[in-house]
This record gives sequence, structure tokens and C-alpha cells, in this order.
Amino acid sequence: APILSIRDLRKTYDNGFEALKGVSLDIQPGEILALLGPNGAGKTTLISAVCGITRITSGTATVAGHDVQRDWRQARELIGLVPQEISLESFEKVRRTVAFSRGLFGKPRDDAAVERVLRQLSLWDKRDSTAMQLSGGMKRRVLIAKALVHEPRVLFLDEPTAGVDVELRRDMWRVVDELRREGVTIILTTHYIEEAEAIADRVAVISRGRILLVEDKDSLMRRM
Ligand code: ADP
Ligand code: ADP
Repeated sequence: APILSIRDLRKTYDNGFEALKGVSLDIQPGEILALLGPNGAGKTTLISAVCGITRITSGTATVAGHDVQRDWRQARELIGLVPQEISLESFEKVRRTVAFSRGLFGKPRDDAAVERVLRQLSLWDKRDSTAMQLSGGMKRRVLIAKALVHEPRVLFLDEPTAGVDVELRRDMWRVVDELRREGVTIILTTHYIEEAEAIADRVAVISRGRILLVEDKDSLMRRM
């Protein structure tokens, strides 16, 4: 069964703009799906709708069978979201920042879980640094650690490499590849075709609020 199932999802913003015009998509456990599309296509709207940040106008999204609108409490525990902006101007130490995120999900304190995720993201050596002292790449890793520490089944990455240099982009690709090997299901948005090619198993091309095609990466690349 798919871990994430989106059916005829529509989003009309309060100003009347139709940002999503009936999106349907199934994502299998362990899969890495890239949502590829130009700026304004509706990528952020789609993940915001599934992650409960923006209201769904109509249609459904379910995570492991939990409807994100009706069973929001159960659904949100299964979701991790790494937002686009690096908003990490924290004076807290990395370990506390990450542990706090776990608490936000109502999960009991678990130092071992925090250590595991910090090691997974090569942040263990930085555990006593404050997030503000870190490089951009390390900050992004902290954001991923915060999104993973409550052990979600599905991780959403919104433009993980927007505005970063080539080296940092490669670093992010490596992180995603490591998470893949741990079996995390990942949906990431990007407007770089090379990025979709480098890290995704499947690519969904989105434009003006509609999915134009969904294909295995290899068959898509053969056609490009
Ligand atoms: P993408 O992530 O693909 O760049 P977005 O989902 O951010 O696209 O935006 C899709 C479209 O919806 C854009 O035209 C954007 O201007 C519009 N939009 C986004 N948020 C709002 C909002 N809160 N109110 C009205 N329009 C919005
Ligand atoms: P919702 O339907 O999810 O409540 P709203 O239409 O109320 O969304 O807008 C949410 C926020 O997005 C508002 O603070 C608004 O100022 C902002 N916003 C409005 N237009 C845009 C746009 N074109 N792109 C991005 N954000 C926008």
C-alpha cells in the first residue's frame, strides 16, 4: 500500500487563486519522489497542504491510512517537514534544539533517539555548538534532524538546495542518499532537473497546479 496517497487535491487561496487544480499522487514506502516544476507551479502549496500548514480546499491526503484533515493528530506524527527558509537563528545548542522538536510532537524525552539522529546527519560533533555558529550546510542538517527526531515515516524537503552553492548541493544529495538507505520515504521539491536526476527514484512534473506526468527517473531522463 502507498505510504502517502493524494486524491484530487485542490487549493484555492483566499484571494481566489487556484494554486492546486486536482492533484493525485501515490508514493510508496521507501521511495524518493521529486516534485519538479518552475517557480509558482504549486510545489510548496502541495507539501504545505499535506503537512497541515495550509488548508485543503477539497480532496484528500492520507499518510499510512490517516487522513491529514480528519485524523490530523495521527497523521502529523508520521510526517517530517524541512521548510525552505533556513530560519535557525537560535542561541540553543544543537542537541537541545533537536530534542525540543521531538517534544513538540508529544513524544517522551529520548536522549538515544536524539543521539541517533545527530549521528545519522553527522552532527554529533556539533551537538554543543549553537545553531547560529554553524555553516549553512550544517544548519540545513540541523533542520533535517529536527524534522526526523520524532521518527516520521515520510520526510518532506522543500527546495533543499535553493540558493546554495554546488558543494553544499552535493552535500545535501549525499544526506538524502543516506536517508534513502535507512528506508525513509522522501518527497522533495526542486526546480533543478539535475537534482531530480541525482536523487529521486520517481519524478512528478508539476506546472500551474497540475501534475503533468509522473515517471521513473530513468525513463524520464531518456526522453529529455
Ligand atoms: P512553488 O513552490 O512551485 O514555487 P507555490 O506553491 O509557492 O509554488 O505557489 C503557487 C502559486 O500560488 C503561485 O502563483 C503563488 O504566487 C501562489 N500563492 C502562494 N501562496 C499564496 C497565498 N497565500 N495566497 C495567494 N496566492 C498564493
Ligand atoms: P490560507 O488559505 O492557507 O489561510 P491565505 O490566503 O490566508 O492562506 O494566505 C496565507 C498567507 O500567505 C497570508 O499571510 C498571505 O499574506 C500570504 N500570501 C498572499 N499571497 C501570496 C503569494 N502570492 N505568495 C505567497 N504568499 C502569499
